[in-house]
Amino acid sequence: MTNDFSNEWKPQTALVHGGTQRSQFGETSEALYLTQGFIYESAEAAEARFKGEEPGFIYSRYANPTVDMFEKRMCALEGAEDARSMASGMAAVSAALLCSLKAGDHVVSARALFGSCRWVVETLMPRYGIEITLVDGKDMEAWEDAVRPNTKLFFLESPTNPTLEVCDIAAIATLADSIGARLVVDNVFATPLQQKPLELGAHVVVYSATKHIDGQGRCLGGIVLSDKQWIDENLHDYFRHTGPSLSPFNAWTLLKGLETLPLRVRQQTETAGKVADFLAEHEKVSRVVYPGRKDHPQADIIARQMKGGSTLVCFDLKGGKDAAFAFENALSIIAISNNLGDAKSLVTHPATTTHKNLSPEAQAEAGIGAGTLRLSMGLEDSDDLVRDIAQALDAA
Ligand SMILES: *Cc1c(COP(=O)(O)O)cnc(C)c1O
Repeated sequence: MTNDFSNEWKPQTALVHGGTQRSQFGETSEALYLTQGFIYESAEAAEARFKGEEPGFIYSRYANPTVDMFEKRMCALEGAEDARSMASGMAAVSAALLCSLKAGDHVVSARALFGSCRWVVETLMPRYGIEITLVDGKDMEAWEDAVRPNTKLFFLESPTNPTLEVCDIAAIATLADSIGARLVVDNVFATPLQQKPLELGAHVVVYSATKHIDGQGRCLGGIVLSDKQWIDENLHDYFRHTGPSLSPFNAWTLLKGLETLPLRVRQQTETAGKVADFLAEHEKVSRVVYPGRKDHPQADIIARQMKGGSTLVCFDLKGGKDAAFAFENALSIIAISNNLGDAKSLVTHPATTTHKNLSPEAQAEAGIGAGTLRLSMGLEDSDDLVRDIAQALDAA
C-alpha cells in the first residue's frame, strides 16, 4: 500500500508524489479519508494492531491515512525521518517545546518570536516551573552566556517576524550539541524550500502549514519534524494523548498545497525582491530589510544558510504611523491582513496589530517603529503590485 518516497527525488517531484498511498480504486488525486475510526477483521487483528504487531490505523487522533500522506510528503521535502502534523502552527510549536521539557529544565530562546510563540515561552512555561532566558538571537555570545547546567532546549525563528533578522542556525546548533541540548527552529518565514534547519544541525523543525504550505488562505495546520528517535521518545505519546491532531480534510488541502509550493514560493520571492529594490530607492522610505539584498545587515549568514530570499519585505516609512496608515489605506490590490504566505498580497502594521502587546521599549528593541510595515507578497503580477505600492507611497 505504501508508496515510499525515493530519497533521490528533487523537491518538486517529492512534493507531487511523496507519501502517496492509493486505495484499491487507483485514484489520481490523493483520497480524503474523513473517518474517525477503523474496522478490524477479527478480534485477533484488533489485538495485534494494538500490540503494534500489525501495521494499520487505530483512531484518527493517533493517525489517519490522509494525514499520514501529508506527514510523509513533508518528511520527503524536509529530509526528516518522522513527523507529526497538528491542527495549527501553534499546536505544533507548543507540542515541540513542551513534549520534551519538565519542571526544573531551562530553555534559551531568541526574543524575536511570533507573538503566540513568545507567550508560550515567556508566560506559559514558567507556570510549569520551566526556567527561561530570552536573548537577542543575532548575538552568539548572548546564547553562550545564557547556558546553565540545566539548559535542555534552544528555540528560535529565522528570519524573524516582522523585521526579517536571521539567527546563525549552524552556530547555535553546535552550541546546543556541545551541552547536550536540542535546537528547535520555527522555519515558517523561510519556507521548507529556502532553508533546511535539519541540514544546518537543528534537531527539530516546526511549521505553521497555514502559511506558504496551504498558500491559498484556506485552512490552519502545523507540523513538527525530527529524527525518529526524538519523535518516539518525546512527541509520540504526548501527541496521542493531548489530541492536537490535524483534520483529514485540512491535511488533504495542505497536500494539494504542497504540489504547487515551489512554483508559488519562487514567484513570491521574485516579486518580493523586485518590491524591495523599488522601496529601497524611494524617498519616503527610510529602511528596507530584505534577506535577498546585499545591504541586509546579516547578508553573510543568509548566504550561508538560505537558498533564496524571502516572500516577505519589511520597510519603514519616514512619516511614522500617519504615513503607514495612509499607505495601507491607499493600496488597492494589496489587502490589510496580519496573515502571510497567501496567494493574495497582504500588508500589516506590526506596531498596532501583531506586536501591539509589546511595550514601546520592547518594540524598539525588536526594530519595530511607528512607520514599520510588513508586506507578504502574493501571486499577482509583480508590475501591478509595484504600481499599487508606488501610488500608495504617493498618498503616504
Ligand atoms: C503563523 C505563525 C505561527 C502560528 O501558526 P498558526 O497556524 O497561526 O497557529 C507560528 N510561527 C510563525 C513564525 C508564524 O508565522
